[in-house]
Amino acid sequence: MRFYRLSSAPYESLRYTGEYNARRKWGLPGLQCPSCNVPYVGDSEVYPNVDLSGLPGAEQLEKAWLETDLERFKHLREMVRPLVPAGAPLVPGARFGPLVGSARGNFAQLHMLYADRVIIRRDALEQLQAEGLRGLKGGRTGLRFRQRNAPELIELEVEMLGLFHPDCLPPGKAEPCVTCGGYRFSLPEQPLLDKASLPGHLDVFRLRNFTNAIVITERFADTLRRLGFEEYSLRELPVR
Ligand SMILES: [Zn+2]
Repeated sequence: MRFYRLSSAPYESLRYTGEYNARRKWGLPGLQCPSCNVPYVGDSEVYPNVDLSGLPGAEQLEKAWLETDLERFKHLREMVRPLVPAGAPLVPGARFGPLVGSARGNFAQLHMLYADRVIIRRDALEQLQAEGLRGLKGGRTGLRFRQRNAPELIELEVEMLGLFHPDCLPPGKAEPCVTCGGYRFSLPEQPLLDKASLPGHLDVFRLRNFTNAIVITERFADTLRRLGFEEYSLRELPVR
């Protein structure tokens, strides 16, 4: 089985005009990490389907800030944990809830201009689900259009599973920080996936040690081509 990184087509080549301006209601603060000695704000651990509105204390998470008190950060993280999927990393900066804001223009089947968000038209999601692809968990968005004939936009909640192989990472960077859970490396020039870490039960996932990489299987890639999806790009990621 081959694997590909799924991204948007290059910005300058886009013909669809769709754009949106939106944010999520809740998030963990960034952390001035005492182990890393620098701030850490993960920007792509997102849970569009996690609604914190019934959680006592959740209003503390409605603003963004950089926390300097590790114990307070841990307290906030544990407050959220029962509401997220088991095993969630919950790094500083993780965000929760649907995207709420405004949208306009025409949207391609998939809109991926921002690495932490996979937006898909409802009709496109239904086409992919009908093909039997695994791991397509859609969540509603609160994106409002002013125009007529607006598409319904869904956000995929993509599980964080799978890793870049240590061989493609700088020495000593393969393990996350024990305190904040962050990984500190930039996209490897010759990325390699770690075979043992890849989920066998999903056709789409987000790498746990590089959360803005959305990875799809060959099966998913073939389906996109066959159905004529537009405005995406694929880069094969070798596996070791
Ligand atoms: Zn750290």
